[in-house]
Amino acid sequence: MNQLSCIECKATYSLDDPRWRCDCGSLLDIEFEPVFDLSAIKGRKPTMWRYREAIPIRDDMNVVSFDEGFTPLVTVDFEGTPVLIKQDHLFPTGSYKDRGASVLISKAKELGISEVVEDSSGNAGCAIAAYCARANIDCTIFCPQDTAAGKLAQIRLYGAKLSKVPGTRQDTADAAWGAAQTVYYASHSWNPFFFQGTKTFAFEICEQLGWRPPDTLVLPVGNGTLLLGAYIGFRELLDAGVVGRIPRIIAVQAEGCAPLYKAFKEGLDETPKITAQHTLAEGIAIADPIRGRQVVEAVRDSDGGFIAIDDAEIKRSLREMCRKGFYVEPTSAATTAGLSRYVCTSDPDEVIVSVLTGHGLKTTEKMLTI
Ligand SMILES: *Cc1c(COP(=O)(O)O)cnc(C)c1O
Ligand SMILES: [Zn+2]
Repeated sequence: MNQLSCIECKATYSLDDPRWRCDCGSLLDIEFEPVFDLSAIKGRKPTMWRYREAIPIRDDMNVVSFDEGFTPLVTVDFEGTPVLIKQDHLFPTGSYKDRGASVLISKAKELGISEVVEDSSGNAGCAIAAYCARANIDCTIFCPQDTAAGKLAQIRLYGAKLSKVPGTRQDTADAAWGAAQTVYYASHSWNPFFFQGTKTFAFEICEQLGWRPPDTLVLPVGNGTLLLGAYIGFRELLDAGVVGRIPRIIAVQAEGCAPLYKAFKEGLDETPKITAQHTLAEGIAIADPIRGRQVVEAVRDSDGGFIAIDDAEIKRSLREMCRKGFYVEPTSAATTAGLSRYVCTSDPDEVIVSVLTGHGLKTTEKMLTI
């Protein structure tokens, strides 16, 4: 059955119901039976839309795309161990958030929606703004006042209305929440269609490895939009019989803001309240991730684990990545710092895949301080 389904009360709704949460107030997931025709996929353009029958958009006419995705997977050495790195900083807006935005805004177009709101610490706002520009949909992006200047410029120049909110990231979310009472909420954490885009990360990796899953994925996590997308994608490949197992997921958080790390280590069912400290990894500094329980369950189900990284390690890893020719934003270096730690305990023949999530050109002021 293809439908929206509430994770708490199990109510279901049509995929064509323009809603982003359940009447009970809780989160919705998407139940969808994807089709993978491997020989058809092989002959298509190298974009994330080559998995067309696995993406719940009805009409091709509604697909909003820049031919993005199918990003290169290159081998990089970490402490002497080869790791396959997915270069998702090479998307049109400079981050993997385009995966989610492409599908979510396609769905908005399919629903006939003319206006959306979103809140973001930067990259999700850039992605939603760009795809709305392509689809001719009006959008308002709420950002914390201290968002990187490059990202704010990008959002504004795509033609979005930009609303800068003083205070914390939570204050920004609250402002968008208020606006979303009357306008469609294109939220990368609430809206389940976003994850139908980020799941293509798993499909691409699997295809690039000859339709085999890696042993281990090392991924950043704040709200979990990439991690949950990867998990959904690999589960779908497993359910469809394309692969025989899913990779172990190692989740990386910034030490100054690591509620999910804490929940995992302490075996908690709910995300603990924490006081967020400043971190260089602004993109994953989420104190109260609404899908936190799902993230911890996904990591547990994959037999994975968590790593927390401090700012000194992020800085060191960022310098190392740049010296290897990869100009990425500081948040991406939290992942690579986690990788440097992880490979010290990995098996000699383990196939490890990780990711670069955001481009360094977006955060020039920060790069000047590294
Ligand atoms: C969004 C983002 C992440 C991952 O964040 P989640 O909150 O887990 O979705 C990682 N790196 C960058 C650069 C990002 O923009
Ligand atoms: Zn419900």
